[in-house]
Amino acid sequence: MRAAMQAAAAAGADMAECRLDYLDKCDRATLRTLLKDRPLPVIVTCRPTRQGGRFAGHEPDRLGILFAAAKFGADYVDVEADVPESQRPKRRVILSHHDFDARPADLEAIVARLEAAPAEVCKIAFAADGPEDALAACRILHSAGKPTIALAMGEAGAASRILAGKFGAFGTFASLARGAESAPGQLTIEEMKRLYRWDSVGPATAVYGVIGCPVAHSMSPAIHNAAFAAVGIDAVYVPLRIEPGAESFDRFIEAVTASPWAGFRGFSVTIPHKQNALARVGEAAVDALACRIGAVNTIRLEPDGAARGWNTDYAAAMDALTAGMGIAREDLAGRKVAVIGAGGAARAIVAALTHYRADVTIYNRTFPRAEALAGEFGAEARPLEAVAELSAEIAVNCTSIGMHPDVESTPLPAELLRRVRVVFDTVYNPVQTRLLREAAAAGRACVSGLEMFVNQACMQFEIWTGRAAPRQIMRQVVSRHLLESS
Ligand code: NAP
Repeated sequence: MRAAMQAAAAAGADMAECRLDYLDKCDRATLRTLLKDRPLPVIVTCRPTRQGGRFAGHEPDRLGILFAAAKFGADYVDVEADVPESQRPKRRVILSHHDFDARPADLEAIVARLEAAPAEVCKIAFAADGPEDALAACRILHSAGKPTIALAMGEAGAASRILAGKFGAFGTFASLARGAESAPGQLTIEEMKRLYRWDSVGPATAVYGVIGCPVAHSMSPAIHNAAFAAVGIDAVYVPLRIEPGAESFDRFIEAVTASPWAGFRGFSVTIPHKQNALARVGEAAVDALACRIGAVNTIRLEPDGAARGWNTDYAAAMDALTAGMGIAREDLAGRKVAVIGAGGAARAIVAALTHYRADVTIYNRTFPRAEALAGEFGAEARPLEAVAELSAEIAVNCTSIGMHPDVESTPLPAELLRRVRVVFDTVYNPVQTRLLREAAAAGRACVSGLEMFVNQACMQFEIWTGRAAPRQIMRQVVSRHLLESS
């Protein structure tokens, strides 16, 4: 634990929490050694099992340890609010309440009791069901009358940890490493400091985020936070995990709309909420092509609280393709395009290609899906095996064939590649798919999914900020992440 304190100090922590309930044994001598010459201020906690901790011994022994910690000069002692006031240390107390099941129905009453009690700091932590619970924790901080820690635990509550500084929290908790969390949803100090720029988040910081399920492995926080930092915009971008379903999506958006003080300005929206985003912002607030695709992946919250939506996926794909070919979108008219796949990505791309009057044939493993998509947008449909007879100027892979870890697969055998002039692979992990490697070897023009991916992030940045996106930096972040994850 002493070594961990040194590591925390080196990593830039302002304070360390010593969870004595994690020690096999903690007597007074151990405690004295632990606190002597400590490298940074310390909160001493000995959480009992009834409050989600590991201390299973007798309550008088536990309280004895806390009193000893106070005596040996601990900077703060965390005492659970269910300990009678007469049995709590008198000074330097963080009075805490935990609920590992849900946001308590009587949250406000609990917070009021914590605030009224004689303690320097209040702490409340509860399990988050959705990011609206993170917002509830932020609201406690926003209106706190004394130094407070408020946290929504679990992945859905991550924003409450990242934004704690913005709302004037006494502090937040981070782990030293992945796997060393002392509560669900804790981020590492490295993530808090480097990725989420804890030290530069303040009262005026604007908030953006990615809505999806799952979002834990999304590259968007890394891309957008790096972009904000590079351009010098006071904004932070957080993960917002929302369970599938329009109801949970709407619940969060309504909570955000009712909380203008929270500073939310916009969202990236990913699977499975793009349709919910369109339904929520309404067709009147979205461009016609995004409406036809039926998906919104970008939301901007206007100063009057209204939400506007965009689909940067189709625009990003069209820009990647036309830039790779050195043509304008209008020049796609009449060109023969083979689209392989009939899922979400194919839908956006087919809608855009047919909008620009390209002659599109869709090839898909599940033929009825190809037929349905083709019928909707005026394209041709063929079964996947029919790629053997493919004849087109442009081939676009919209399947996940060739994606990590299945990197030796390809949707188009090498011998077919001489029948096309341009190959666009929407897969971006790896950047150089087998399809693109073989297309390049055959002398075909190649467009990578990385271009599309970076384009859509740049467009989002520009929609939100009105500033030119730092494209190079955003591309570097994506490339670095892909290298690290492969
Ligand atoms: P999706 O909705 O799940 O669709 C997946 C498509 O891939 C379907 O057409 C599916 O065929 C086909 N497929 C999957 N495995 C296959 C296999 N083993 N053999 C034949 N066909 C197979 O997914 P999506 O959202 O459209 O994403 C598809 C790809 O697009 C992903 O690889 C993703 O990396 C890429 N993408 C890239 C970007 C970017 O910015 N570059 C953005 C979005 C997506 P069935 O209909 O027969 O199941």
